[in-house]
Amino acid sequence: MEHKDLEMIIVGAGLSGLVTAWRCLDVNPGLSALLIDSADHIAGDHTWSFNETDIAPDLRDWLKPFIAYSWDSYDVAFPKRKRTLGIRYCTGNSDSLRACVLPHIKSGRLTTRLSEAVTKISPKSVTLEGGETLSAPIVIDARGFKPPADKVLGYQKFVGQTIRTAQPHGLTRPVIMDATVDQLGGYRFVYCLPFTDHEILVEDTYYTDGADLSENEVTTRLADYINDKGWGDHTLIRKEKGVLPITLAARYPKDRTAQIDLEEPTVIGIRGGYYHAITGYSLPEAVKSADLIAGLIRDAAGDYSKEPHAEMAQHKLDHLNEERFARFLNRMLFKASDPEKRYKILERFYGLPKPLIERFYAGRISKADKIRILAGKPPVPIMNALKVMSEAKFLAKHLPESDTAV
Ligand SMILES: Cc1cc2nc3c(=O)[nH]c(=O)nc-3n(C[C@H](O)[C@H](O)[C@H](O)COP(=O)(O)OP(=O)(O)OC[C@H]3O[C@@H](n4cnc5c(N)ncnc54)[C@H](O)[C@@H]3O)c2cc1C
Repeated sequence: MEHKDLEMIIVGAGLSGLVTAWRCLDVNPGLSALLIDSADHIAGDHTWSFNETDIAPDLRDWLKPFIAYSWDSYDVAFPKRKRTLGIRYCTGNSDSLRACVLPHIKSGRLTTRLSEAVTKISPKSVTLEGGETLSAPIVIDARGFKPPADKVLGYQKFVGQTIRTAQPHGLTRPVIMDATVDQLGGYRFVYCLPFTDHEILVEDTYYTDGADLSENEVTTRLADYINDKGWGDHTLIRKEKGVLPITLAARYPKDRTAQIDLEEPTVIGIRGGYYHAITGYSLPEAVKSADLIAGLIRDAAGDYSKEPHAEMAQHKLDHLNEERFARFLNRMLFKASDPEKRYKILERFYGLPKPLIERFYAGRISKADKIRILAGKPPVPIMNALKVMSEAKFLAKHLPESDTAV
């Protein structure tokens, strides 16, 4: 069934799907869109944080309504380095995201179909669990994470609790990484976001190879950290957990002129590989894709014969090329370093100049930045670093061609 006037279907009303709907409808006043999600409400129950400098300057004002909390600076702490970085840190949440798209829902330009799972997506149509097929010139797959067949991954895993402390907790800015804690066989740190004087999100995070999250164990160490900080007298407000992909190597056509498979639907968000290779965070990439799609729709002016589908396929290749250096750093972190000493790579990184750190997280590092990151005494044995340098060799070893699904 073709909906009259319906130009866009987005499957997945999570972060990337909603940011895309919001941006596309803001930029294109004549556009109408349909959001489909298997959950019974949009936006889930999350918080999403990012450095303000991760977002292109011309989109920062637009994104402001999404930001529920922000701080002028944040701290990092390692055994041999403590530093306050004057980088603005921002957090949005499910409530603020819902509020951003609500005007479009109220106006009728954005319709939703909830509690409906989509089983099949093609570039111009989707099939619902009950068999119904819906078509539109633009179809976007934003269904969240699915392990990719063409990547070697490590994982960032965490358990977090938002608590209300009986006494003021005393933190005035976020602690993005407190890596002074016991490392316990992988890179481990605690992350703290002080929302108010009494309310704080505390997350115990660790980087290890497999996707298994030892939830009970991590919850126990989180409780120990909370007690050690003197926040033992508290009420629990909210819990969250996450297993985020960290890309060590990716197989894809390196040639920008390579044939693009136009039979594949446009996939965005974490499922499309749009996350920071080192942190697994995807908000900045979600904003970038949303803006790109919104601009392509505007420029297509109703002729969707090629755009935005082909452009988005190219955007994916560009993203994979841009994160090549980050993947090498991940291979050093996961495969070239003694697990107990992985923190040293980050300890050293956080000694670099602030503008470089900003560019690194924003995915805008230059050749000079890369040299600067690698210069000096390496934090891992040099022979180990050399062994993981070639992505092609690493892929041949960890993801033989025959294992790559089509
Ligand atoms: C606990 C946690 C904290 C995180 N914190 C941050 C952070 O601070 N900053 C940051 O940048 N990133 C963060 N991330 C990583 C990443 O940004 C999030 O996972 C983000 O929500 C991914 O966005 P997405 O749109 O790709 O997927 P999701 O937000 O997961 O949305 C996917 C949507 O698709 C729907 N869906 C799935 N299958 C179907 C189907 N078959 N049919 C219909 N609908 C379907 C789901 O119900 C869901 O609503 C965090 C992740 C987690 C898990």
